[in-house]
Amino acid sequence: MGTAKCIDIGGVAVTVVRKRVRRVNLRVRQDGSVFVSAPARVPLSQIEEFVLAHRQWIERARQRALAREDARREGLRDGGHTHLLGRTLSIRAVADLPRRRRPRAEAEGDVLLVHVSRDVATEGAQDLAPLIGAAVEDLRRQELEELLPAMFERHEPLMGVHASGWRLRRMTSRWGSCNVRTGRITLNTELAAHPVPSIESVVVHELCHLLEPSHNARFHALMDRYCPAWREARRELDAPPRT
Ligand SMILES: [Zn+2]
Repeated sequence: MGTAKCIDIGGVAVTVVRKRVRRVNLRVRQDGSVFVSAPARVPLSQIEEFVLAHRQWIERARQRALAREDARREGLRDGGHTHLLGRTLSIRAVADLPRRRRPRAEAEGDVLLVHVSRDVATEGAQDLAPLIGAAVEDLRRQELEELLPAMFERHEPLMGVHASGWRLRRMTSRWGSCNVRTGRITLNTELAAHPVPSIESVVVHELCHLLEPSHNARFHALMDRYCPAWREARRELDAPPRT
């Protein structure tokens, strides 16, 4: 990690970090803050230009991040709700696990049962949100770990590409990323909230990057070919979180 500097670019507070990266990277974090990492040789004026050119994207990503945070805060409680594979589930917390056991979530019809340890209930007014959040996150990972291998197996031979590996991560401003050099794909665990076709379109999107690194006309032609419904999926993924 290099030195961080916070500057105002066109009314947006941007933290600029000099790092050993190959190009300028822009990121909007969970709390809506904007980060840029850039190689030491790139002058500040060029970074400013880059940020200004992406202002619309930043604004959209910030709004999404903040709305997501709100939805999360509101929803993750006993009697609240969350989303799994495009379905809305009501959260019911049940204090039935032995002491100090990690909370666990399971979907039963339209209900998401979140089992927490008995001591949580007896120790009184503890905030359940972080426990429910952890259980939901675990469940989302599990769902994706079950779904994704078949998606890669289906699309890779059709597209004539092969990802060297994939992993899941909590990401804030992107649904996925592809390291074209190593062939590794990273997917956002939050995808598990969305319908299967949306998840699949992100897998195809990242695999497409192994054929075409940038989002140019050739890339979109490849998407049209390998995932004809990608525009609908993109709209679904970009829609503000339902409450
Ligand atoms: Zn992309």
